Amino acid sequence: VAKTTQQEYQDQGIHQELIGRRCLSLSGEHGVPSCQWIGTSGAHLDGYFCLDRASPDLGFLRRVARRLITPFIGLGIQTVITPAIGSIPLSTLAAEELMASEATTVSSVWADKVASEGPGMTSDFDFVRPGYAELVADALVLIVEDVINRKYTVSRVRDRARGLGAHIVGIASVASLEDVDAASLDVPILHNLCEVRYSSWSPSDCAEQGPCSRSEPIVINPGLGHGIEYQTRNSGYPGGFISLP
Ligand SMILES: [Zn+2]
Repeated sequence: VAKTTQQEYQDQGIHQELIGRRCLSLSGEHGVPSCQWIGTSGAHLDGYFCLDRASPDLGFLRRVARRLITPFIGLGIQTVITPAIGSIPLSTLAAEELMASEATTVSSVWADKVASEGPGMTSDFDFVRPGYAELVADALVLIVEDVINRKYTVSRVRDRARGLGAHIVGIASVASLEDVDAASLDVPILHNLCEVRYSSWSPSDCAEQGPCSRSEPIVINPGLGHGIEYQTRNSGYPGGFISLP
């Protein structure tokens, strides 16, 4: 059993930069109205992290990628994996930075979102592109993720990679909720650049004590969570729906 370690890189500068670039939004703070977001797992959130606005800035993304790979240099990573779609550019740059540091080949592949086979799961992830599963099988693997909320997506990718025989060396994330750690993710190393503090509720808990109990509107911007899908199923929600600028 590998030793569990926690690599922290709490950089106040990058935290502020992510707020300034509107990658990190918190309900009722920094000009954001009181509202809530719907996460991939269906959870209700009073904050949201989305790297999309910063992702086209490759200079910024490269700086982030360099910080992400720091603790993994020299560990023999063969394949960098990420869930599709938003974190693919970051993951690719991270693999390239790792390859430059290691002077060996590092592959970069992603897991596509696929229909779930398990009961109660909204989606699953799998390495369905030609040749991708072979690059994950029996490889030393680093998972790169933009944000870890309720660990749902990253856990699905981790389990699928392990199912193929991958050895997960660790997870590198730009942001994660404060209660996320290596032990709870069942990986040897978690390297997280920015700890974010926002709360998440199950839909029923949210109705009792979360933003839904205060009738706060649900964000429906495409790409900022799954508010649109929620609106389709719950069009009568009394708090209403909102598009953020
Ligand atoms: Zn809610």
